[in-house]
Amino acid sequence: GWRSRAAFKLTEIDDRLGLIKPGSRVIDLGAAPGGWVQVALARGAARVAGVDLLMIEPIPGAELIQADFTDPGVDQQLIDLLGGQPDLVLSDMAHNTVGHRQTDHLKIIALIEIAADFALRTLKPGGSFVTKAFQGADLGPIMDRLKAGFEEVRFIKPKASRKDSAEVFLAAVRRK
Ligand code: SAM
Repeated sequence: GWRSRAAFKLTEIDDRLGLIKPGSRVIDLGAAPGGWVQVALARGAARVAGVDLLMIEPIPGAELIQADFTDPGVDQQLIDLLGGQPDLVLSDMAHNTVGHRQTDHLKIIALIEIAADFALRTLKPGGSFVTKAFQGADLGPIMDRLKAGFEEVRFIKPKASRKDSAEVFLAAVRRK
């Protein structure tokens, strides 16, 4: 079985966009407990490297590390573990909300920006990027960069994502 409910969200996103290609290399940011890693491998990814603040129980076929992705050097560590540039960068990273609206908002945007930046820097041409996002987050500058760097950028609200939550996913498809 899947380790997380989140696995159903990625399944739905990939059913619609077909981003997990057989034999591909995938990086998963905020990977614990490992549902998205399982889905990527089940759909034929050859190699998956994942990171989380939390320890992730091993999954055969995946290289999983416990670290803060925003720390210097963790990005390169993931590329090294993957053995080359990714075809797909996934981020389901979410911080623990502090309950202060402005602070939470800034933290959400910072995580999306850092993941987008990584995707833009490392993806192979033709590669894609999916990140958790939130309705109402001010994504203007990030959207501009993604639209310039990818053929197609769109929002997806999977059925498995609770209707009453502001969660949406942002997919940037086919790196130019
Ligand atoms: N996609 C995962 C799955 O299917 O099992 C679920 C991910 S969960 C919604 C979000 C995760 O992001 C948490 O486990 C959290 O620890 C992680 N996270 C948040 N900030 C992070 C950071 N700076 N570096 C690494 N992981 C982070």
